[in-house]
Amino acid sequence: MKETIKIDHVRVTCDVCGKNDPGDLYYECVGCGKDFCWDCHKISGLITHESTNYSNEGFFFCNGCIIHMPEEIKPLYYASLRVEGLIRVRDDLYYEHKKTESEANAELQRLRDQRKKVK
Ligand SMILES: [Zn+2]
Ligand SMILES: [Zn+2]
Repeated sequence: MKETIKIDHVRVTCDVCGKNDPGDLYYECVGCGKDFCWDCHKISGLITHESTNYSNEGFFFCNGCIIHMPEEIKPLYYASLRVEGLIRVRDDLYYEHKKTESEANAELQRLRDQRKKVK
């Protein structure tokens, strides 16, 4: 969501490494409100998606808040994990489907080629 990702680059400084780069993308933790630069956010927390239908990023939860989760963001965190889980299930099913589909196509191709040879 818009309010979780800082686009006001000028004022933002990373609370981990202190970097203040106007060209960088900053993430604000929904729990503690600390800002994380692009490099730090990758190792300092979890990015979730807005919904299962969109690839948009939803919320950023820093590791500190994941370990000692503030009561008020727990519902948001668990709802986000649920969406992440569903995305993973869908991706797995899609992968399995693709695999089965290409196996079925290959089998049909093979049988068709076999018929050609017989004729
Ligand atoms: Zn940083
Ligand atoms: Zn936090």
